[in-house]
Amino acid sequence: MKVAVLGAGVTGVTTAYYLAKRGFDVTVYDRQPLPAEETTFANGGQISVSQPFPWSTPDLPMKLLKWIGRKDAPLVFKLQADPKMWAWSLRFLSNARPSAFYKNSEKILKLALHSKSCLDDLVQTEGMEFDRQQLGILKLFTGMKEAKQTAELANWLNENGVEQRLLTRAEVIEMEPALENSNSSFSGGTYSPIDESGDAHKFAVKLEAAARKLGVIFEYNSAVEGFKNSASSVQSILVNGKSHNFDKYVLCTGSYSEKLTSKLNIKLPVYPVKGYSVSLPIEGDNKAPLISITDETNHVVISRLGNTLRAAGTAEINGYSTEPNVDRENMVLDAVMALFPGVGDPEKATRWCGLRPMSADSVPIIGSTKLDNFYLNTGHGPLGWTLSCGSAQLLAAHIDGDTTKLDISAYNVDRF
Ligand SMILES: Cc1cc2nc3c(=O)[nH]c(=O)nc-3n(C[C@H](O)[C@H](O)[C@H](O)COP(=O)(O)OP(=O)(O)OC[C@H]3O[C@@H](n4cnc5c(N)ncnc54)[C@H](O)[C@@H]3O)c2cc1C
Repeated sequence: MKVAVLGAGVTGVTTAYYLAKRGFDVTVYDRQPLPAEETTFANGGQISVSQPFPWSTPDLPMKLLKWIGRKDAPLVFKLQADPKMWAWSLRFLSNARPSAFYKNSEKILKLALHSKSCLDDLVQTEGMEFDRQQLGILKLFTGMKEAKQTAELANWLNENGVEQRLLTRAEVIEMEPALENSNSSFSGGTYSPIDESGDAHKFAVKLEAAARKLGVIFEYNSAVEGFKNSASSVQSILVNGKSHNFDKYVLCTGSYSEKLTSKLNIKLPVYPVKGYSVSLPIEGDNKAPLISITDETNHVVISRLGNTLRAAGTAEINGYSTEPNVDRENMVLDAVMALFPGVGDPEKATRWCGLRPMSADSVPIIGSTKLDNFYLNTGHGPLGWTLSCGSAQLLAAHIDGDTTKLDISAYNVDRF
């Protein structure tokens, strides 16, 4: 059976791999010349099972009011005359209700746990190297209010089977001595042993090579422009002006997914949320952390990827623009330099930004659609690396008509 996978980011490459493992005859199309050149390219590197919490937190509406006009706000809405942006934003905010917040967190957590076990199996099978650090994640907080909120989430995680320990500042530094010289005023932290980090771009490139060995064909510089379809199925895709026929089609085009589903009259509440990363060559080796860090106060995540320290963060809802904003890049750079002074020369940092494909309820959209041979694997927002293997394994099993480890209907687009 011939399957076309649209998109070769971490979601598309993992989808192609798991489909090929099941014997499907897979071709992947991507408009870029190489795999993982868009959002997967330079993300924060965290595989953070312990962070299944949607960004539409119950206190987000109040926070947004406080952040109005602040250039350094961690999340900014730059509302434009785009009805899709308004509709998505209202839906996103409506998911801040506590009941929705915990229901969505539970769905993401189940997928993250499944994904972690799929990643472990995959690495054992393929033996890939991608600067993996299986040392957990330390989350740092500042002040009583953040401590209380962190403790509430830690309780929820522990009740749901994910160990997360609360630590004092001294205990945090004991665990990660590179924080000893920190200029940050963090007052404590949490430690989640299940978490890890690694280079998503390296992983996708290596998995692409493994998928080729299984017979997957990758067609690059190949922009998917549209479809030929009936009311019940897709007949072909149009790529660089030419038509290609397959039995089944899987959409993994990240932030650009809605641009393609709208051609098929499938409503998909996925919108881009821009974020920034800086990659700093490590000079003071003993000053660089080994454990991945989440700086909760500045909303920045930090991962050691070989001889590079990657820091990523901030969120900007500003349409599809990938124009960099130097102030927001500097927010990320300043946060990492404050935590790890002397780790490297900030002038040598490589700056990058990408668009997180965010669904309105922060839960990925995986599964069938109203067109019987057209499937979705998209909307992974800030957790696409963490959730990639599990999402792809789940969808491949579903397409194959096999029993799925999780109830895939929880991730279906019909929920909107
Ligand atoms: C600053 C930042 C930090 C992040 N940190 C983390 C983290 O620490 N941990 C984590 O788990 N996640 C993180 N993420 C999120 C994660 O990077 C994304 O969720 C993930 O990369 C999405 O993968 P994807 O394959 O769905 O999208 P992409 O990587 O964007 O891939 C989509 C592909 O589709 C292709 N495409 C699009 N349209 C077309 C078309 N019409 N025709 C052909 N090809 C097309 C693109 O070229 C692209 O290659 C972060 C994101 C950002 C921006």
